[in-house]
Amino acid sequence: MNIKINENFDLLSENYLFSEINKRINNFKESNKNVDIIKLGIGDVTLPLGKKVIDALLNASKEMGNKDTFRGYPPEYGYDFMKDAVKKYYKRINVSLDLDSIFISDGAKSDLGNIVDIFGDNPIYIPNPVYPVYLDSNLMSGRNINYIIGNEENNFLPLPTKDIKDNSIIYLCSPNNPTGGAYNYDELKKWVDFANNNGSLIIYDSAYEAFILNDKLPHSIYEIEGASNCAIEICSFSKQAGFTGLRCGWTIIPLNLESQNHKINSLWKRRQATKFNGVSYPVQRAAEAALSDEGILECINNINYYMENAKMLSKLFDEKNIFYTGGKNSPYIWFKCPNNMKSWDFFDYLLENANVVGTPGAGFGTFGEGYFRITSFNTHEKTMEAIERLRRIL
Ligand code: PLP
Repeated sequence: MNIKINENFDLLSENYLFSEINKRINNFKESNKNVDIIKLGIGDVTLPLGKKVIDALLNASKEMGNKDTFRGYPPEYGYDFMKDAVKKYYKRINVSLDLDSIFISDGAKSDLGNIVDIFGDNPIYIPNPVYPVYLDSNLMSGRNINYIIGNEENNFLPLPTKDIKDNSIIYLCSPNNPTGGAYNYDELKKWVDFANNNGSLIIYDSAYEAFILNDKLPHSIYEIEGASNCAIEICSFSKQAGFTGLRCGWTIIPLNLESQNHKINSLWKRRQATKFNGVSYPVQRAAEAALSDEGILECINNINYYMENAKMLSKLFDEKNIFYTGGKNSPYIWFKCPNNMKSWDFFDYLLENANVVGTPGAGFGTFGEGYFRITSFNTHEKTMEAIERLRRIL
């Protein structure tokens, strides 16, 4: 075969983070057969779905097996009942959305990855360190990428700088994966004002908004005045409602977002109608249930469970006086490796001396080198045991 391939794929670095982690664990296990390894690297939820969600899923599945209630293709942009549920969810934070600005998706990753389809060749600004999908999807499209640097000085929550070019696309993630940091109103306002003044578009990933426990922090960028003129928001049921295996999310593209005489909302509509056939009816009914009053309470119960773990972990780093971010409004804790160790060296040290696994910060970008991510998705018992082990070696 001699077809031309997309050479931009050569620009992607090997997706080796989790395979390398597993390789090192397996090597370690070979010579340490009976050792109990505790995994604090988990980036996936572990608690089961709530009763409301399961009931809705079962009922909708039954409807699909009945001649009178069977449904075929769903609308590409989501059923109205589902969009209504999202609209109502935003009302709790006093954000009013047009129904047509809401797109139901099969999760945030797809939309974060696919949104590049509707834009031309603009300068792209991506935080470093951050969730790798923004970088890789832009590399695949041959875009010109710049980094917004997160470091200890800015608590891994970078703010706008003068060197950011006009008319750029800027990715923000709050609460952030991997650093767990969350922007406050003033900080987010700086980004919104900046974008409105220099003609830029913000793509705001709020996949972890439900973990925000501090009522002084914004859950959505649309809580900031002017954001509907410069921002797209992408969110997910994955971590909020335990949908990592069910798959559902949403994207908000305000109707007034416009560039070069094109409505961004219409471009996305066209894109989705061409390449996406919507989210299944049972899953949308389940997601609707997750946003009902009772459903939200069930989700909060699970989130509180994880956040108990995050609190216990944070305490350890307070006690040891180690620099860390996250753990307060996020399931992630991001800390500086002791003795200026590099991320992967610390990974090995932790595995060998505490039999605990986390994620090396270098896997989230060059500025993650020297840092480490642990998560709160394990059980209380395992997390407490891990803390005891960490206390001994840190
Ligand atoms: N955004 C961030 C910051 C994430 O960490 C993740 C998943 O880990 C996603 C988006 C993807 O979410 P989804 O499961 O909805 O595709």
